[in-house]
Amino acid sequence: MPFRFENSYARLPATFFENVVPTPVKNPELIRVNRELAIELGIDPLQLESNSGAEILSGNQVVEDSTPIAMAYSGHQFGGFSPQLGDGRAILLGEAVRDDGVRFDIQLKGSGQTPFSRRGDGRSALGPVLREYILCEAMAALGVPTTRALAAVATGQPVYREGPVPGGVFTRVASSHVRIGTFQWFAAREDDANVKILADYVIDRHYPDVKEADNPYLALLDGVIERQAKLIAHWMQLGFIHGVMNTDNMSVSGETIDYGPCAFMDEYHPGKTFSSIDHQGRYAYANQSPIGQWNLTRFAETLLPLLDNDQDTAIKKAESSLDRYPDIHRAEMRRRFYAKIGIAEDNNDDDNASDWELVDTLLTTMAENHADFTLVFRHLPDALERDNAEPVSKWFDQPDAFTKWFDNWRLRIPVPEREAAVKLMRTTNPIYIPRNHRVEQAIAAGYEGDFEPFHRLVNLLRAPFTEQPEHAEYEHPPKPDEIVHATFC
Ligand code: AMP
Ligand code: MG
Ligand code: MG
Repeated sequence: MPFRFENSYARLPATFFENVVPTPVKNPELIRVNRELAIELGIDPLQLESNSGAEILSGNQVVEDSTPIAMAYSGHQFGGFSPQLGDGRAILLGEAVRDDGVRFDIQLKGSGQTPFSRRGDGRSALGPVLREYILCEAMAALGVPTTRALAAVATGQPVYREGPVPGGVFTRVASSHVRIGTFQWFAAREDDANVKILADYVIDRHYPDVKEADNPYLALLDGVIERQAKLIAHWMQLGFIHGVMNTDNMSVSGETIDYGPCAFMDEYHPGKTFSSIDHQGRYAYANQSPIGQWNLTRFAETLLPLLDNDQDTAIKKAESSLDRYPDIHRAEMRRRFYAKIGIAEDNNDDDNASDWELVDTLLTTMAENHADFTLVFRHLPDALERDNAEPVSKWFDQPDAFTKWFDNWRLRIPVPEREAAVKLMRTTNPIYIPRNHRVEQAIAAGYEGDFEPFHRLVNLLRAPFTEQPEHAEYEHPPKPDEIVHATFC
């Protein structure tokens, strides 16, 4: 057996989940197994790649020590509360425990209906499976905390969306699948006892240090706030737009989760959205910062009964924790964006308003000039090295607009500091990101049974900061007829 499962979540009270079994599929075929990740988790990749691996990764076979469950959760979706969500198309098989003792959920996505499926079919089309694989593995290589892809399987049977499309099953690995919405499930039912059981479980699994604190539950809130504030800054450093920051899609472990309509920006604009269902721009690029605090406020509300016996005191404690979010997030944004322009943290005094002004002016100029986010930052070190604006200015509608900024910037970085600045920028600003048009091309080919573009994209995104001259075209922004304007769940 390739898997040895533990099932700690399935030992929590019965209201936390429903016992389920995956629905078998007709003709499972492995598209890709993530060998490196399997090895890291102590799972034999050769066994995963065997016939029995395909049976397990499609849900056709449930291994002996797995207790498959669908987890219960609620969530605020685009601001409105849905008390009854839960795993409608996902099934937790169990937990793999790494050599260092860290525990990871192994979950199938698209493996059939559960009691939480409502009117859904519990299935996944192949496109979203390939998309999540590409995106989450790219994020991991970029250094962002994220759920991971263990495998992608084609089911050999259609799912019906606009019409019939090939189906797939995705194997997701996560530090856990506890979401803000999981806490909301119990809070909405005024089930304080189970909020406490869930909080204790999360503390054990993700925040063991807070047990030492005077008020462990307040320290848990602080911990989740800190990880989310930093995570969102990390997304923004890379031009990543999550697309559906509903509270059921926010992991309390601080990992990026739920790669639905997410996208990396080509041209920079703070108001950019891609999701076809985000009509108001609620989850637009720059809105991700305040939405993080909104979501964390919903999380804090669920913990109130644990923070203090007196409700007013509990609210005051929660508010003072939440008030720290903007500072943590801003400091992390500054650190990351300073690094993007070659200014190291220890070389920056945070009160230095002119450094932030430098970042801000660059971003504003980029937005006004339809400049490509990744290309501009990727070529900044070239410009500094050559002491010439041209490698970057050519990406601006009005090259002079950049040259003006460049003249100020080069004065900020004295010649003796430039080598270090260039190095910092080259390890901060990726060359390769999963550009939307490349993701769409990989999906379109996959639907035709050709997984070559998918594999090529996944492979090259494993080294996003390294020049791969044989793949130079993957740096390029889309041609006008390749531009992806909207993404779909
Ligand atoms: P998501 O948009 O992926 O965050 O999902 C929101 C909710 O809809 C979750 O409760 C999902 O489990 C459920 N859901 C999404 N797609 C399906 C589907 N095809 N079948 C059943 N439930 C689904
Ligand atoms: Mg149950
Ligand atoms: Mg979701």
